[in-house]
Amino acid sequence: MSLKLIVKSLAWRRVTRRYPYEPHPVPEDFRGKVEFDPDACMGCGACANVCPPNAIEVIERPGEGVRVIKLFIGRCIFCGRCEENCPVAAVRQTDEFELASRSREDLEVLLKHVLAVDGEGHVMEYTERELAEAMELLATFEDRELVRKLGEYARMCRSCRVREGVNSIVKSLRPGLGGGEG
Ligand code: SF4
Ligand code: SF4
Repeated sequence: MSLKLIVKSLAWRRVTRRYPYEPHPVPEDFRGKVEFDPDACMGCGACANVCPPNAIEVIERPGEGVRVIKLFIGRCIFCGRCEENCPVAAVRQTDEFELASRSREDLEVLLKHVLAVDGEGHVMEYTERELAEAMELLATFEDRELVRKLGEYARMCRSCRVREGVNSIVKSLRPGLGGGEG
């Protein structure tokens, strides 16, 4: 290095950062650690369906009447698809990037959702929050008869819906049979 360059370099400002002794700023569109909003999440599982590395799982536990949404941050590739696809903006990517941990449990996030129960006490395949969200949406429809019918169907468990559907078909084909009750 020539003496001229050394003298010149004395006037230069430092270009490196003192990270980790001072915070390291990230760009505006940085895609960091994924975070759920537990108050907004309704447990629909749409984020899990679009997560390429299966970092988000939907664990059904109908026996306990719950569905668990489980995020394992250690598998996340920070693609942002969960944020793009959540219907209620309950998941977002933060600026956080310091995710090293000695324990796997530190990288797990669990959200437990209560499954809805129909009028006959059967556990449904929807969470209570999903059902509430659907009812809220239905309330905006103008056709009240359609709203009533859809509301009734939405409050039935899968087997009751199938039975009701079969009964309606039988009734329409053979009105005299009265739908084969039971
Ligand atoms: S898509 Fe949104 S509402 Fe549905 S489970 Fe994921 S975070 Fe929750
Ligand atoms: S950012 Fe991508 S990889 Fe990470 S949880 Fe969301 S969808 Fe999955």
